[in-house]
Amino acid sequence: MASEIITLPKIGLEKETLLAQMQSYRGDDVPWHENKAWSLVYHASDEHTELIKAAYNLFFSENALNPMAFKSLKRFEHEVVRITAHLLNGDKNVVGTMTAGGTESLLLAVKTYRDMARQTRKIKHPEMILPESAHVAFLKAAEYFDVKPVFAPLDDGFRVDVAAVQKLITKNTILLVGSAPNYPFGTIDPIEDLGQLAMRYKLPLHVDACLGGFLLPFFEKLGQPVPLFDFRVLGVTSISADVHKYGYAAKGASTLLYKSMDYLKYQFFVSTEWSGGVFASAGLLGTRPGGAIAAAWASLMGMGESGYLSLAEKTLATTKKLMDGINAIPELEILGQPDMSVFTYRSVHPDVNILAVADRLEARGWHIDRQQKPESLHAMVNPGHAEIADVFLADLRDAVDYVKAHPKMATSGTAATYGMIAKIPFRGMIRENVLQMMMDMYGPDGGTLNLDAEAQGGIAAKAGLWYLKWKNRLERWRQRRR
Ligand SMILES: *Cc1c(COP(=O)(O)O)cnc(C)c1O
Repeated sequence: MASEIITLPKIGLEKETLLAQMQSYRGDDVPWHENKAWSLVYHASDEHTELIKAAYNLFFSENALNPMAFKSLKRFEHEVVRITAHLLNGDKNVVGTMTAGGTESLLLAVKTYRDMARQTRKIKHPEMILPESAHVAFLKAAEYFDVKPVFAPLDDGFRVDVAAVQKLITKNTILLVGSAPNYPFGTIDPIEDLGQLAMRYKLPLHVDACLGGFLLPFFEKLGQPVPLFDFRVLGVTSISADVHKYGYAAKGASTLLYKSMDYLKYQFFVSTEWSGGVFASAGLLGTRPGGAIAAAWASLMGMGESGYLSLAEKTLATTKKLMDGINAIPELEILGQPDMSVFTYRSVHPDVNILAVADRLEARGWHIDRQQKPESLHAMVNPGHAEIADVFLADLRDAVDYVKAHPKMATSGTAATYGMIAKIPFRGMIRENVLQMMMDMYGPDGGTLNLDAEAQGGIAAKAGLWYLKWKNRLERWRQRRR
C-alpha cells in the first residue's frame, strides 16, 4: 500500500477521477464475474442485477429504523416475510422479520430462545445442541449471548446423528438446530427426526436454511427428492433463509421466520426510559438500509416462480455435471451425498495433497475455498458456473496430475501452511496467531489487508516452532497417561 490515503483531500475529487480510482482498487479482487469464484457472490444475470440496483437506489436514503416513518419499507418487509413463509410452507400464523444477513438471523434466533427459556423456564445456564456442521455464526451467537454450544457428531453421510443429539439433551437445553443444507458439506440434517425429538422434549428447533431457503423449494418443484425441512415438519419452530444468497437480492437481506408470535415476541427489544424516547426494535441493528429491503422485494417479484425455477434447473444440472466430473477423477471424491448445490471434495490418493491442488488451481486464476476437518475444497454452484464447468473440470484434472507428479508441492506454499494449521493440536495457539493477524489487519496501517501467502507463512512458521517445542512434552505426557 504505497500510496495509502490517510487524510481527506483538500478539495473533493471530481466524480470521474474518483470513480476511476475506485475501479483501480479492484485489481486483486476475487474474479467472480468470470465465474472463477466458488463462494461470496450469488449472481443470477446482469439484467437481474440492474433491476435490483434500480430498486436499491429508489430507496437508497430511506431508513427502516422506524417502520412507521417509511410505510413503504414496512410493506416490503412484510411482503418478503409472507412470500418466504409461503415458500417454506408456513401457515398464516408464521411471522418474522428481515435481517441484514444470515449471521444476524442466527444471532437473533439464539437470543430469542435464550430469553424465552429465561422467562418461561428460568434457565440460567443455557445450552444449545449444534450439529458439528452448523454454521460458525452459531458459535458467534454462543459467545455474544453466553449460550453454551454442545456439539453433536455427524454420521457417515455427514448429517447430524440424531441419537447423539438426544443423548446431549439436558435440563439446560434451550434449542435444537439442524441445517438445510449445512455450509461445509451441503447435506441436509434429518429435520423430521429432529422435529420428533423437539416435540418429545418440548424444545424449540431452528432450521438454518440460509443457503437452502430460496433454492430447495424450487428443487422440489423440479421433482428432485428433497427431504422435508420446512414448516411442514412438526416441531420446527423457526427457519432462517437468506434472500441475498439463492434469492439473488442485494447483500444485506435475510429472513428469520417463527411458527408464531409466541416465539418472535422474545426477539423484540423495548426500552421505555431513554431520554431519546420510548424505543422499540425488532432486530440487532438501529438504522437499517431501505435499499437492501427494497431490493429483496424487487428480486423476489422480478424473478417470480418461473425465474427461480429456471435458475434452479440450471444450478442443479451444473452441480450434477461438476460432481460427476469430480467423481470421475480417480484421485478425488465428493464427501457424502450433497442435497443441493453445495459440495466438498477431497483427495483419496496418498500422493495428491488436495491443498496443493488448490494452490495449482489458484495459479490458473480460480478462487478456491479450503476446509479443514477433513482437508478438502468447497464449492457453491451458481447458474453462471454452467459456462465454465468444462474448463474447471479440465483445470482440476490437470492440477491433480501436476500435484501427483510434484508431491513436494504439499510442503510448500499455502498447502504447507494450511496443512500445518490443521494438524497442530493446540488450537489456542492458532487462535492467538489469528487474533494477532486481525490486530495487524485492523491496526493503524491496515496491515496486510488479507490472509496472503506471506501472512499465512508467518502463522505457520510460528505455529511450527511452537509445535516442535511442545511436541516432546506432549508425547511424554501422553505416555505417562497410558
Ligand atoms: C451463509 C450462511 C450463513 C450466514 O449468513 P451470512 O449472510 O453470511 O451472514 C448461515 N448459515 C449458512 C448455512 C450459511 O451458508
